[in-house]
Amino acid sequence: MSTTDEIKSRIDIVDLVSEAGVKLRKSGRNYTGFCPFHANKHTPAFVVWPETGTWRCFGECNEGGDIFKFVMKREGIDFKEALQKLADRAGVRIESYQRETPVQKEAYQHLRDLLEEAIIFYRNHLLNNREVLKYLHEKRGLTDATLETFGLGYAPNSWDAVLKHFTAKGHPEQDLIDAGLLTVRESESANNEFRTFDRFRHRIMIPIRDEQGRMAGFGARIVDPNDVPKFLNSPETPIFTKGRLLYGMERARKPIRTVDQAVIVEGYLDVIALHQAGYENVVSPMGTALTEEQLRLLKKFTRRIVLALDPDTAGQKAVLHGLEAVRSAMDREGEFGFDARGLLRNEARLQADLRVASMPDGLDPDEIVKRNREEWKQLIETAKPIVTHVMETLAAGRDIKDPKVKNQIASQVLPLIEDLPNAPERETYRQQLARLLKVDERALSGAQTQGPRLRRPRVVKQKSLPEAPGVAVTISSGRKVEEYIVAVLLRKPELLYRLDRLLETHGLAHLSAEDFEYTDYQLLFGLIHEAVQQDRTEHRDFVIESLPESLSGLSHELLAQTEKLDRLDEKLVEELSRGVKRIRDDAAAEKITQYKFLQEDAQEKGDSKTVTLYQTEVLKLTKLKRTIDEFDRKMSLRRLE
Ligand SMILES: [Zn+2]
Repeated sequence: MSTTDEIKSRIDIVDLVSEAGVKLRKSGRNYTGFCPFHANKHTPAFVVWPETGTWRCFGECNEGGDIFKFVMKREGIDFKEALQKLADRAGVRIESYQRETPVQKEAYQHLRDLLEEAIIFYRNHLLNNREVLKYLHEKRGLTDATLETFGLGYAPNSWDAVLKHFTAKGHPEQDLIDAGLLTVRESESANNEFRTFDRFRHRIMIPIRDEQGRMAGFGARIVDPNDVPKFLNSPETPIFTKGRLLYGMERARKPIRTVDQAVIVEGYLDVIALHQAGYENVVSPMGTALTEEQLRLLKKFTRRIVLALDPDTAGQKAVLHGLEAVRSAMDREGEFGFDARGLLRNEARLQADLRVASMPDGLDPDEIVKRNREEWKQLIETAKPIVTHVMETLAAGRDIKDPKVKNQIASQVLPLIEDLPNAPERETYRQQLARLLKVDERALSGAQTQGPRLRRPRVVKQKSLPEAPGVAVTISSGRKVEEYIVAVLLRKPELLYRLDRLLETHGLAHLSAEDFEYTDYQLLFGLIHEAVQQDRTEHRDFVIESLPESLSGLSHELLAQTEKLDRLDEKLVEELSRGVKRIRDDAAAEKITQYKFLQEDAQEKGDSKTVTLYQTEVLKLTKLKRTIDEFDRKMSLRRLE
């Protein structure tokens, strides 16, 4: 039994839902009550099935799932957290869900402990350095309490202070190198000698933790304005991966969820100053452009993300130089880079809402809150969509009456617009651009630059293989069908295009995460769906890389099941389509029964408006069922041919 199954078997969904404050009334084999997720208090449209451990709202939400989905939705947490919560409640230990091996875990813990010790070391040096303390207090406006909360420190101006201190305490040099505290370099006096010395010297030290609060590394900022580079981070280590961490995340995650918005700034000290000013939903990348992985991390907590950019970063430079410049900038420390196209793609793929707020008067965020606390709030509230931001930045201070300028701006903005996945959005921006440049919109659509378009499925040519006797798939329960679909698609994600096309030709909707009743299949399918919409990474690798730890056990299981999958792709697509038909058919039938039941309930109460509402729904579902059955009939005919 899988861990999720075991948890489900131990938790009574009726108890769980009742405890969440939903009053349930038994009716036949099920329970009904008022939906906790929408406001209507007239119709008990919320149904719980104790046998299958599932629930569904037949009203406004029209959504359902298992205990995990219920807790995720109710408490606004992600799958992993819901899993942990319910595991605790069920008394189930989630061992198979650790990605790190025990040996690695111990090694990583050792590095983290060492870094925690380093915080104390650097902190003591800060407390003894009046000059740096003065800078932090006066120039940066940070209080002692803030310095303590964020664990700020100072690395002394010495080549061997860390080396001496920690080796004297019995730490091997290699550990200090592994933790990124020391650097090794070949000695200049030749004879192949290597010299080990302190990586951070005469710098303000800022501890960086992962989103769970575990120590990961340091960011270091110069004290002497002539030193280079201005910012220096720990080197990449197993626990410090720049592209994956966000500074301040461990403190910001709760506030981000509470206000349902995350703000990204460029500097660690800006994060600290904003937190001190009471804006705690602020994080910063590690001095590089924002990665998809970082956005994915934020997306667990909110889909509304605002980038607060310095004027020079947000400026024309980044847009004009295009992708290559941004890419090379990403490798340099201390450069943020603003890659509009990359951000737009991630926004679409992750279904996030990305906006840009540019800082006025050449000020940094920390200077703005210092100047006027309210001003920050306003800047963030008036943040603009990326395309609008690019348009306005390009037009700022230029003579847009000049046809040459018009052309230049249009040729830079149009490819971004054409790249957007949905038509109404493209239309809106085209109009906006036309208004800005004071040109006819039709002139713009004629001047379109061809850019690679998102969501244009890449057609993968299939080699035809001789058909071998495959393992017969017996589809028994709904859960098994879902498992089968996800297992096959995980093995061959590219089949999703063909499946969707097949469904489409029969008037059926593309397969979507909502088709799945079980949370883990929903999540896995969501990743497969994302995978086929990008073309940077092999589809399956993309899924494996983005898997939350909690699903890695399940995905291995599924991949093992399909190892010997050797049927023709055409056959597989057909089987998949029958699977989809099956789960949709079941879902529709289930819903029809429930609606009829609810309809009777409403009739008894004389609520004719609700009765009509349910009747319409039943009609719609009956029609859907007919389309599904028709599809099934055609598919069977095809098999006979
Ligand atoms: Zn509802």
